[in-house]
Amino acid sequence: MAHTKQTSGKSTGGPAKRGELPLGSFKCVTGRGQKIIKSVNAKALPTGLDTIQSAIEGTLKPQIWNLWCLLCRDGAPIMYECSYCPRSLCERCLVIPEESQKDIKSDNIFFRCPGCHEVRDKRAGKDINTLYFGFEDVKGKPVLARPAVIHGRIELSSRSEICTIPVLILNFVLDSIDCLGSPACIMRDALHSYVPADYREIIFDVGTAHKAKQHAMSMAKLVTELEPHQVGHIEVFIHSHLETVRSDIWGGFKSTRTKGEGGDPVAYTISDFFMLVLAGGMADYIKGATLWMLVCGHMVRETDAFNDFKDCIKHYQI
Ligand SMILES: [Zn+2]
Ligand SMILES: [Zn+2]
Ligand SMILES: [Zn+2]
Repeated sequence: MAHTKQTSGKSTGGPAKRGELPLGSFKCVTGRGQKIIKSVNAKALPTGLDTIQSAIEGTLKPQIWNLWCLLCRDGAPIMYECSYCPRSLCERCLVIPEESQKDIKSDNIFFRCPGCHEVRDKRAGKDINTLYFGFEDVKGKPVLARPAVIHGRIELSSRSEICTIPVLILNFVLDSIDCLGSPACIMRDALHSYVPADYREIIFDVGTAHKAKQHAMSMAKLVTELEPHQVGHIEVFIHSHLETVRSDIWGGFKSTRTKGEGGDPVAYTISDFFMLVLAGGMADYIKGATLWMLVCGHMVRETDAFNDFKDCIKHYQI
């Protein structure tokens, strides 16, 4: 007989039976706080900044700056750190003429990044952007003789920052959903050169009590495995479908096989869905995370469903 294998077909949303919560023992655990570590450069304020703070408008916020240039998103031997925000520009993107090199290094000189420059112009009610000099003295007088030369352009918004805090991406994918091109993968690839992004794909099927129990066990194992690692941000993606009538979320399939679409889809109420999928201490682990819910559109179109969803978000603090 020829070699054969079973590949589950791609599924689309549609009607599904509402599943009863398979196990009565699912409870969400609460109480553990969120861990945050900072991997960005911690630096003391430049000389004199703390003492003359009152002399300049606005407050000097940053104590830590971005490691990567706002423009080229790369690093360089010299990074100019904004005196008003955590952004920095590299020496390749902001060209300082030879004759001004000494001036910008002297005390009591402040650097204003293009983003903060734009903000100041807007606050001043100016319709057009004023010339950008970057470096200025206490009174805001430009240090450079000519406007600063900027190479490259801002590809991100002028207020964005490149974060270097370790990121954990948890991609929950309903079994049988093809998540190729998932934003979770795009995020992983985009972050790859900047931060050690840990990416975990969790194919779930909690369609039966047995499968839900197994899923809870594997979640508990995963949490134990992840917990020792320090993570700054957790991004949670959930790929599933919505039941078309009641806006329940597909949790899995009726088939007794452990994985692979086989039986009829089973959908749960939104709160049951979260309880089952984020089982095994996962709900507690991801507290404070950012949730990307990738389901069919009626989740937000149906007011009730959307309200239930919002309640869950509040409950799980994601
Ligand atoms: Zn769908
Ligand atoms: Zn640069
Ligand atoms: Zn700035």
